[in-house]
Amino acid sequence: MAKSPIGDGVQDSQLNQLHDLIKQVTITSAPNRWRWYLQDMDEFSVKGLRSHIDCLFLSSHYLATSWNKIMPRKVNIHAWRVVKDRIPTRFNLWFRGVHHNSLICPTCGNGIETIFHVFSECYMAKRVWYSIRKWLSLDIPLHYDPVNLLSYVENMDKAKAIKEFVIIIIFNVWWELWKFRNDIVFNPSKKRDVILVDAIINSSFFWFRNRSIKTSIGWDEWIKNPLLAF
Ligand SMILES: [Zn+2]
Repeated sequence: MAKSPIGDGVQDSQLNQLHDLIKQVTITSAPNRWRWYLQDMDEFSVKGLRSHIDCLFLSSHYLATSWNKIMPRKVNIHAWRVVKDRIPTRFNLWFRGVHHNSLICPTCGNGIETIFHVFSECYMAKRVWYSIRKWLSLDIPLHYDPVNLLSYVENMDKAKAIKEFVIIIIFNVWWELWKFRNDIVFNPSKKRDVILVDAIINSSFFWFRNRSIKTSIGWDEWIKNPLLAF
């Protein structure tokens, strides 16, 4: 078969680039091996890959991007989805083309169900936040969206352990609020216990007692104010 001559212009330029690339290649007698070029390292590591993916996809919040071993996996994942606005609120579903009869919040019936509404603006959210503020004697802002709330906590003039603790409580609040909302939507006939704060205080105590090797805090101290134990 006759070879086509390389023409001027694009083909010529591509051929020159190919020659330049080939010049850099040195073929040795060593056995073939894989190399990892994503970072400045030769060897592949899961940790390196995870860190690279985190940089690409997660927000800049250090606490939101690190996996918290004290909380259950489902609560970690849920928090990540809240921060990334990936919760299937009625507004988010509508925005993605899944149309529902109503965009209104099923919990309060008063406001479009966005992430901000569910976790900050809704009367149920406010009720929970007021109680958490009182429990921890801490000035947690009431009108911040989830991302700004995390920024606020990360910039608080407190020890890192306290900030990490507050973040865990925030993640738990988000988890319980969304669970409560789903109960209203998917189990409308179920008799609901609206004392969400009790559930948050109980479950976070359980997590700390069972998964944290650092704390030996008792229940009495816990319900009074766990921050006093730090
Ligand atoms: Zn609402």
